[in-house]
Amino acid sequence: MRKKVIAGNWKMNKTIAEANQFVDDVVNSIPADDRVEAIVCAPFPFLVSLVEKTKGTNLKVSAQNMHFEENGAFTGEVSPVMLKDLGVTHVVLGHSERREYFAETDETVNKKTHAAFAHGLTPIVCVGETLEQREANETMSLVETQVKKALEGLSNEQVTKTIIAYEPVWAIGTGKTASSEDANEVCAHIRKVVKSVTDEATSEAVVIQYGGSVKPANVDELLAQSDIDGALVGGASLEADSFLQLVEAGA
Ligand code: PGA
Repeated sequence: MRKKVIAGNWKMNKTIAEANQFVDDVVNSIPADDRVEAIVCAPFPFLVSLVEKTKGTNLKVSAQNMHFEENGAFTGEVSPVMLKDLGVTHVVLGHSERREYFAETDETVNKKTHAAFAHGLTPIVCVGETLEQREANETMSLVETQVKKALEGLSNEQVTKTIIAYEPVWAIGTGKTASSEDANEVCAHIRKVVKSVTDEATSEAVVIQYGGSVKPANVDELLAQSDIDGALVGGASLEADSFLQLVEAGA
C-alpha cells in the first residue's frame, strides 16, 4: 500500500521564531508510522534551523523551490547542492504560484526534477488547471501534458520516488475544494498518465497528493479516495494543531 504524505506548504509566512515554535509544538507528536509521512515546506531562511530541530524525528523538511543549476551567477537563487548540504529532504517544484508569478514552465520544472534526483532530494511536483481551463474541459489534457513534461527523461525508479501534487489552481487559498470524487478522478488520470510513460508497478507506487483548501474538516474524505495518497496543504498547515490533525488523518 502507498503511504500517505502530508506536506504543509507555509508559502511566504512566519518569522523564524514562529517557525521554530511550530516545530517545537508538533515534532514529538508526529508518529513513527510507515503509513504516513509528514513534511513542512518552509521558506529558505528557516531551513537550517528546522533541519537541526527535526534531526532524529519523524518530521521532514522541504524547500518550496530551487534553481536547477548547481552553482554560478544566479543572484538570489538557491541550488539543489545547498539544500542537500543543509539536510533538506524534499523540494516543491512547479507550484502554481511559481508558474504564475515567477515564470516557471514545464521545461524548468523538468530540469529541476532532474536536478533534485541528481542531488538526492525528493521532488514534490505540482500540476493543476485554472478555472478557465476547467470550464473549457481542458483539465485532463493539461495535467497530462504537465505530468509528462515534468517526468520526461526520468528512470522508472526516479518516477516511483517522485511525489505528484494535483492542485487545481481555482481551489488554492479560495476555500473551494474540488469534490473528493472530482479530485480523485484527476488523480486517477494522473496515475494512468504515469503508467503510459513508465509501467504498471511504477504507476501503482507513485504518491499522488491533492492540494487546494484541504483542512481537518475535509481531509478524511479526500484521503479515503482510491488515488489520493496525501495532501499538500497551505492555509491549514500554518497552525500546529491543524497540521497535526491532518497528519493524524493520514495515519
Ligand atoms: P491552500 O494551499 O491549502 O491554502 O489552498 C495549497 C497550496 O497552494 O499548496
